[in-house]
Amino acid sequence: MQKNAKLVFWGVRGSTPTIERDSWRYGGNTPCLELTAPDGVRFILDCGTGVRMLGNHLRAMHNRWGDGHGDSGIDAHVLVTHYHWDHIQGIPFFQPFFEPQNRFHFYSFQSKYLGRNSLRQVLEAQLASPYFPVDVSNMRASRSFREVAGGDQWSVEGTHVTTAWLNHPQDCLAYRLDMPAGSVVYATDTEPGVPEKDHGLRELAHGADVLIYDAQYSPEQLASTRKGWGHSSWLEGVKIARESKVRNLVLFHHDPDSSSRVIDGFLSAARQEFPGTWAAMEGMSMTFSERGIGVTLPKSRLGQRRRLRFSATVKGETDDGRVFEERATVRDLSVQGAYLCLESRPRLQSELTVSIDAAGEDDRSSLLAMRATVVHCEPGREHAQNGVGVVFVEDAEPEMPRD
Ligand SMILES: [Zn+2]
Ligand SMILES: [Zn+2]
Repeated sequence: MQKNAKLVFWGVRGSTPTIERDSWRYGGNTPCLELTAPDGVRFILDCGTGVRMLGNHLRAMHNRWGDGHGDSGIDAHVLVTHYHWDHIQGIPFFQPFFEPQNRFHFYSFQSKYLGRNSLRQVLEAQLASPYFPVDVSNMRASRSFREVAGGDQWSVEGTHVTTAWLNHPQDCLAYRLDMPAGSVVYATDTEPGVPEKDHGLRELAHGADVLIYDAQYSPEQLASTRKGWGHSSWLEGVKIARESKVRNLVLFHHDPDSSSRVIDGFLSAARQEFPGTWAAMEGMSMTFSERGIGVTLPKSRLGQRRRLRFSATVKGETDDGRVFEERATVRDLSVQGAYLCLESRPRLQSELTVSIDAAGEDDRSSLLAMRATVVHCEPGREHAQNGVGVVFVEDAEPEMPRD
């Protein structure tokens, strides 16, 4: 039995998934979090498009190890904040729902638009004709539904769950999960300005190790063009984190029109005010242990990693806010693509290989060899040569050995 708890972010984008390249670094899937409590109980928070990858991950894990309790079924408590598409649209693509050995316990509120069994109706409607080719009768995992409301509390083995209403069109719930290893508050899709709910959220978040908070807009947008849209900003998150004595603030539900650079800007502004701020990133995980909260970021999705060796000057900021500059050896580099001048005229969508020699070095490890696909070719672009754009693709072969 593990002693630590682990929180994994499978989807962090608000409103609709994004596939634009400039959104990749933080990720484009809509909200889905996985929390594994110290006693092994698994929670899934929201079922946005990120839940598809979680489903694949869980299946792979169970096929390999079983669940450690003597059978191979997946068991999870699914806490849904509300019924907007971005929080439920992954349901039909979560494979474990279609397998009879698995068990899911769903929690959400009774919507005044749907009445009794709201969550069950929402789940079945996701698979209704003509919206989805597979009927709900194929969803063979065992399912139970519990309707909860703001202010409710209950325990799932060693984890205590508390809820609060948020200010959002057609309502939304925030969840707090208290475990022996620490506490996490998930408060997305909310706009400040309703005193009773503002107060309720501060109470819910009091002393939490981690507060995950809606930071979709800039403070300026929130005060003007996006007022009344049901979302919030990093600045409001900072205020709540301070007032509620939260240890770590995670900016969440990034706007689909926010590039990674925009989110970088929100994060650095928030860190000036509240150093314990993070920006939610797809694949990021937080470990809760006696030593506090450990954060692990995913490997880059931005380009193909290549091993090599050359020197560089690195400038940055340390953990404790000090500026540093030093010489370092680059051992691994992410590369996206290249623009080449060629005599030859390669065919669009054909594959080619680019090998770059490090100047004056005889060392094989400084050779950078990459496979690429041709995405652009402009005849006679420069000095009668063809301008050729390529995007680097995954290596089929194992990477070149390091020294
Ligand atoms: Zn949302
Ligand atoms: Zn919403």
